[in-house]
Amino acid sequence: MSELWICPVCGKTLADSGKSLKCAKNHSFDKARSGYVNLLPVKQKHARLPGDNPEMVRARRDFLGKDYYQHLQNALCKAVGKYLIPGGSLLDAGCGEGYYTKKICESLPETSVCYGVDISKTAADFAARSDKRTHYAVGSVFHLPVGENSFDMLVSVFAPYCGMEFFRVLKADSYFIMVIPSALHLWELKQAVYDKPYENQVKDYHLENFRFLEKISCERKIFIDNPQDIQNLFQMTPYAYRTGAQERERLQALQTLEVQTAFEILIYQKEA
Ligand SMILES: [Zn+2]
Repeated sequence: MSELWICPVCGKTLADSGKSLKCAKNHSFDKARSGYVNLLPVKQKHARLPGDNPEMVRARRDFLGKDYYQHLQNALCKAVGKYLIPGGSLLDAGCGEGYYTKKICESLPETSVCYGVDISKTAADFAARSDKRTHYAVGSVFHLPVGENSFDMLVSVFAPYCGMEFFRVLKADSYFIMVIPSALHLWELKQAVYDKPYENQVKDYHLENFRFLEKISCERKIFIDNPQDIQNLFQMTPYAYRTGAQERERLQALQTLEVQTAFEILIYQKEA
């Protein structure tokens, strides 16, 4: 079943012709061998390889694959299970390589349907290869390739927030779950690398058009005794972009690391 996807060019429904999906206007989108469909039209593609670069995607897959963030995965599955109606539909907007999406989907009854969208082809490919139950597409979270009022829940884990677009694709009274890092997430890693580490800025929970219901805190100290895993963790962070040579040296010298992980799972309901 993949009927919740729509044509990202004209918005019409897509029919499955085996190797591709086609709309009534004959816009055609190829399915990859791994199973995802590329629904990113050329005009939304602002770079040759949009989204996280393949090295970053690989680093994240390798790190998450060792279940260092399993506590967040479990807490997120629990939160989804508490709010999603039986047999409901869920969209993971900015799903990456599907670490959370796959587990969420497995935790739901067979009648539920899960969709994942990520702008990185490498990420969508990894996700589709390891998770055959979720429907994955390459697409933009700012122009989600799904119709309005389509989903009972939307999940966004460390992904860009796009309020109007999320509001559009959610059904009335449905739920939005957002995961963000807390102030001291990865504090010891920053301390080890930077002269002057800064706490993450946690924004006000208020969102327009969504009613805030609940915050679930999820914290755990993790111990990493493999230098490659430490490098991979750093690669996943937004500060990897703005790190100088001296800081890189400090990072490379780290053999082990005990570090705080701290997340906030924020639950909202779509306002009428
Ligand atoms: Zn079309």
